[in-house]
Amino acid sequence: MNHDTIIAGLTTVQADGLACVACGADYLQVRVPHVPVGRSVTGSQVFACVGCCPDDAPRAARGVRR
Ligand SMILES: [Zn+2]
Repeated sequence: MNHDTIIAGLTTVQADGLACVACGADYLQVRVPHVPVGRSVTGSQVFACVGCCPDDAPRAARGVRR
């Protein structure tokens, strides 16, 4: 998935990048590695857990983050 992909239909916390866009895990409460997967309709960067986003796992493992 492209990092500039616009992801619609998110909850407020997902759109703010505070929760997984795939499983909804709250990153303020759940310590799980997550990677940027796109942007919300407001332009905020949004994230998914590494486990929810297999395509991004290798990139996260290399430590490439934005
Ligand atoms: Zn997740």
